[in-house]
Amino acid sequence: MLRVGLSGGIGSGKSTVAGRFAEHGAVVIDADRLAREVVEPGTDGLREVVEAFGADVLGPDGALDRPALAAKVFGDERALATLNGITHPRIAARTGELIAAAPEDAIIVHDVPLLVEKDMAPLYHLVVIVHADLDQRLARLRDRGLPEDDARRRIAAQADDGRRRAVADVWLDNSGTPDLVLAQVDALWADRLVRYESNVRLRRYASGAPVVVPYDATWPAQAARVAARIRLAAGGRAVEHIGSTSVPGLAAKDVLDFQLGVRSLDEAAELEEALAQAGFPLLGVAEDTVRHEGDAPEDWHKRLHAGTDPGRRVNLHVRVEGGPAWTWAIRFRDWLRADAAAREEYAALKLELARAHRGDADGFAYGEAKEPWMAAATARVDAFYRDGQTS
Ligand code: ADP
Repeated sequence: MLRVGLSGGIGSGKSTVAGRFAEHGAVVIDADRLAREVVEPGTDGLREVVEAFGADVLGPDGALDRPALAAKVFGDERALATLNGITHPRIAARTGELIAAAPEDAIIVHDVPLLVEKDMAPLYHLVVIVHADLDQRLARLRDRGLPEDDARRRIAAQADDGRRRAVADVWLDNSGTPDLVLAQVDALWADRLVRYESNVRLRRYASGAPVVVPYDATWPAQAARVAARIRLAAGGRAVEHIGSTSVPGLAAKDVLDFQLGVRSLDEAAELEEALAQAGFPLLGVAEDTVRHEGDAPEDWHKRLHAGTDPGRRVNLHVRVEGGPAWTWAIRFRDWLRADAAAREEYAALKLELARAHRGDADGFAYGEAKEPWMAAATARVDAFYRDGQTS
């Protein structure tokens, strides 16, 4: 099962996109619709709303008079909290039921207008944001019968584009004609979501050849999104972006590396299932190269997980927080961040080795070939820290 979060400002074309996902076979859960369903005539929800706010929130037909209710909660935080206390648990329960009832291989698309405002992004395997420029949204909403000042007021109350961009794994531009955005949805479905779903279900990680690419300035923002997912799945434990993609300016394979801190590898084993369900299945117990003579090799053991998203390769090293392997990864990263010459040397080596090991699908030979330089680098990293990080 794959969970996709879908959002975008009002009038961006979110419903249009959700409809296309449904045509492909997604199980679309529409948060707005559930919000209406839980207060339909005859529901407990509506009975509680009437108890809390009075019978004058009902229309002559016995259904909720939304403008009347809105007038009572507008600008009154306590009243709004009361209302949310009635509706939110019911929406959440209903959402849970729909997810539980979906087939094991479902791609769930959760259409949530307030996904960004409610910090829900880390709950999903992937977040898709639909975007259109303000003027286009206003014009489309006007065509749909929403007066411009109403539309402007609603837009002002929602998250801005910057916050939306920060959580978007996929940014669907709907500034053109509808068929242009629908073609993007078709491609996303076929090229990424279908395989992502089967990878999560079958616990297959996404792999690829070790192609070294120039530094990508979007890596930190991508890493922040993936780290938030890992952190949530791992109960709030420490997650660090490490490896070459964490060093600004460094050419690297397009694979984000993270380490997740645990107190012991037994504790790491207990996280295996939650990480797999979040899209990071276990590859196995692995041994990091012992970087300091005399260290017990067990102290350099880790549990290695990897990402399932075909559009975003991830390695997740689960290590004892503060242990030698954990500390070395952070120090190596911070040394490279601080030392431009070392960074250039390392980038040149990586490019040369990547060319030499082009046919090496799992990157093993590439990693081996890097070893002599890495061993020498350890002494330089140690010196950097011994000398107070001034080199
Ligand atoms: P949302 O669900 O984000 O509020 P909708 O999908 O309902 O947005 O789209 C808002 C309005 O704009 C609808 O009437 C829809 O048919 C129309 N629309 C969506 N995409 C386009 C587009 N690319 N060009 C023109 N109109 C569009």
